[in-house]
Amino acid sequence: MKLTDIMKKRTMFSFEVFPPKTDDGMQKLEGCLEHLYEFQPDYISCTYGAGGSNVGKNLEVCKMIQKAGNNTIPVTHFTCVGNTKEGVKEQLQNYLDQGIDHMLALRGDLPYGWTGTNGDFDYATDLIAFVRREFGDKFEIAASGSPEGHIACGTLEADIAHLKQKQDEGADYIMTQLTYDMEQFKYWLDAIRKAGITMPVDVGVMPVVNKDSVISMCLSRNGCAIPRKLAEVISHHWFDKDPDGNDLPEVKAAFREEGINYTVNQLHEYMALGVDGIHLYAMNTWKNSKEILDRAGIRTLK
Ligand code: FAD
Repeated sequence: MKLTDIMKKRTMFSFEVFPPKTDDGMQKLEGCLEHLYEFQPDYISCTYGAGGSNVGKNLEVCKMIQKAGNNTIPVTHFTCVGNTKEGVKEQLQNYLDQGIDHMLALRGDLPYGWTGTNGDFDYATDLIAFVRREFGDKFEIAASGSPEGHIACGTLEADIAHLKQKQDEGADYIMTQLTYDMEQFKYWLDAIRKAGITMPVDVGVMPVVNKDSVISMCLSRNGCAIPRKLAEVISHHWFDKDPDGNDLPEVKAAFREEGINYTVNQLHEYMALGVDGIHLYAMNTWKNSKEILDRAGIRTLK
């Protein structure tokens, strides 16, 4: 089954999880996945640890999703970081041997202190071209797109040109970086279409449930804007500890409540724009996703 075929017919729906570091974490994730399957996601993707860490668990998670047999396709993220051509070939053949034939081809987050990938490929474009050359059409390949422009790229136009290159090298669809800025998203969507990018757009949605995570996700690596409305939600709940440093659970809960509303509104806006897919970052929990989806009414349980 090709995800691009699903997107030709309707809005695709998916979750993203990450590979836990421990066996206990794996067990918890298995329980979480059981809940996520109830939403009948078209796929669940699993992130790939930067610098080669957690890669083994990534395959285990993909296999877990595969084995569950819920018509949910496992999609592995895969990066250039620390990977040689031979290593890429070997690992991807291993994924194929396990029946995992969907990937998100990325450059990867560079570990602290690194200035390049320390591998044979510098950019996702190189990885995409290599996978197509070595494996033909065996993989369905997603590529990342950054609605606000990738942090390392001088201009949005240049970043869009690199995205076009990913299409030219054989990527099948786009999975987007998170953005909370809907005006910027609309501008980018228009701009990529004008640049000749026809790939379907599967939108990454990071739920607003925890103040510190939102700030960290936006600012630690990605340079994503925090629009005024979201900034207000953060400011209204800034003081979530008392002067002695003790948590104020009622403030955190109030933030979560307003944050979920923000996310639900974002989902409605994306649906109204007619995006090809909604990709919800589940962050290895299911309750937040459930609440968001129930309130948004976009994925009703059968
Ligand atoms: P690229 O597309 O290679 O782009 C990197 C920079 O180089 C950009 O500024 C781009 O404009 C520029 N560029 C691209 N091609 C060229 C070229 N040919 N010549 C010159 N410049 C070029 N990271 C992980 O480590 N593990 C994960 O699992 C993971 N999952 C992610 C999932 C999604 C949906 C997204 C959006 C990102 C994810 N990331 C992950 C983060 C990602 O690896 C980083 O954002 C990374 O900094 C860039 O990856 P990329 O594939 O977009 O890089």
